[in-house]
Amino acid sequence: MLENKVVLITGASSGIGAAAAYVFAREGASVVLAARREERIAALAAELNDKGFKASAVVCDVTRAEDARRAVAHATERFGRLDGAFNNAGIGGDQAPLHEMGDEVYDTIMDINVRGLWNCLRAEIGAMLATGGGAVVNNSSVGGLVAIPTAAPYVASKHAVVGFTRAAADEYARQGIRVNAVAPGLTRSEITTDWFARNPGIEDAINEATPQGRTAAPEEIAEAAAWLLSDRSSYVTGTVLPVDGGYVNR
Ligand code: NDP
Repeated sequence: MLENKVVLITGASSGIGAAAAYVFAREGASVVLAARREERIAALAAELNDKGFKASAVVCDVTRAEDARRAVAHATERFGRLDGAFNNAGIGGDQAPLHEMGDEVYDTIMDINVRGLWNCLRAEIGAMLATGGGAVVNNSSVGGLVAIPTAAPYVASKHAVVGFTRAAADEYARQGIRVNAVAPGLTRSEITTDWFARNPGIEDAINEATPQGRTAAPEEIAEAAAWLLSDRSSYVTGTVLPVDGGYVNR
């Protein structure tokens, strides 16, 4: 499905991004793993290469435009071009009633989830225009479609991810670039392990509110992203695909 494609994954050091590295590589992609924790992405790239896949790691803090440009340049230097990007880096941030939150929560979430995407999109689209097109998948959240209690800045940031997805899809459709988003429901990762530990009972409550009655494995989100990055979704652009066990449908 992703044979001969070069795909950049941000936030590849854990959770959904690390799962995507395996899923995309198995589909035939050369994967470029970007995140801040160098040891993690270097180890994951080595593991993939040992198994006969093609992978390379590049340290990247998405809040820094020069890092995003460097990650894209790394992909084109190492593998010749950039065909796809999974803009997955993001944080959940602290939760509290909106009126009790400090500026710091807002600044951190917006910087990583929104400015980070803005930095990556600009660099990726520039590289894709140079080679005649590509596909981008942004990782939003069910919080990009509906409210999540006590998570106002996160919800706002993930709605912004949807906004960037729509704007970029519209702007570059005639230049061969498709831009879509996935909107995961609760997915087992470091974000959620930490969150479950701090909020006893929350996992059961979310399972109860989810028609399929369970959380997602990171690979289930990566599979949806793989399809959106592949030529099999060639007439799909500007969409947000919930991958949520039916959560937003209820
Ligand atoms: P993880 O905490 O496991 O992964 C988050 C990833 O983002 C890490 O690889 C981290 O790498 C990276 N990251 C964070 N900040 C930066 C930064 N400034 N620059 C570069 N990379 C960064 O959580 P998930 O896998 O769950 O999260 C991945 C995405 O999925 C996020 O955007 C999240 O909002 C979204 N999502 C997750 C859901 C869930 O239930 N898990 C539900 C809906 C959406 P490092 O620290 O090494 O930089």
